[in-house]
Amino acid sequence: MAHINTFRGVVSPVFSLLKETLNFMFPENCIICGRLSDAAGRFTQYERFCESRTGKPSGLNICGKCLSSLVPYDPDKRWLLCLSNPYEDDPVPGLTLYMPMAYDGVVKKAVPIIKFGKKPKLANLFGCILGSLLKSDSVHADLVVPVPLSSSRLQERGFNQASEIARPVADILGIAYSDNVLMRTRNTSRQTELTGNLDRIANVTGAFKASEEWDLTGMTVIVVDDVATTGFTLHEAALALHEAGCRKVLCVAFAGNRLAKNKEPF
Ligand SMILES: [Zn+2]
Repeated sequence: MAHINTFRGVVSPVFSLLKETLNFMFPENCIICGRLSDAAGRFTQYERFCESRTGKPSGLNICGKCLSSLVPYDPDKRWLLCLSNPYEDDPVPGLTLYMPMAYDGVVKKAVPIIKFGKKPKLANLFGCILGSLLKSDSVHADLVVPVPLSSSRLQERGFNQASEIARPVADILGIAYSDNVLMRTRNTSRQTELTGNLDRIANVTGAFKASEEWDLTGMTVIVVDDVATTGFTLHEAALALHEAGCRKVLCVAFAGNRLAKNKEPF
């Protein structure tokens, strides 16, 4: 083993030097705004941040202007009521949503790039940021699960952006991750394509169930999505987890535009 470690010790700095030289000679464009990246140094910090926590290189190029715009809300503004329009007889009333970033500016530009430009590594970076914020806010749980994508959309896109965000969250919190706990019971329309709240409720009501292969009794689970608008999707996912025996569910979205605080934090 010793010679392998020695080999790695020699190759790794050489590779880094080569990479830095290539970046200097052929600077890349920012993956988000498309401008020529102006801050390799600042990006390197994020790259290291991702690597040190997940062991995976992010391999992204983001300019200093975009990076410096990724600023979270203050800690007391990250805890929200999951549903923007709570309703009577809600089986899981007062469900908490943790949402640290505004869906605006750079984040609003980046989300379609992840989904339609097929850049899961950008979602991994968001997951690193989200995980470190959850950790700094002392969130503890047993398991992290993503909101599942319908099989047809997963096939079309090739990956689930919620999974790409959720996996680094679990790595950073040091807890289990699984993307086969929650399943879609049917295909749904995109929530963003529907304008009315009633249409959005109907679209996702009963859309999820928990796999019977998992015993979730008494577990505390974090369910992750990329963006929350009305909160109905996360609410339905949490409901399925509660029905399967979970003691507590925390809904987490990387970004959104609501600021209605939850009376009872998680
Ligand atoms: Zn940029």
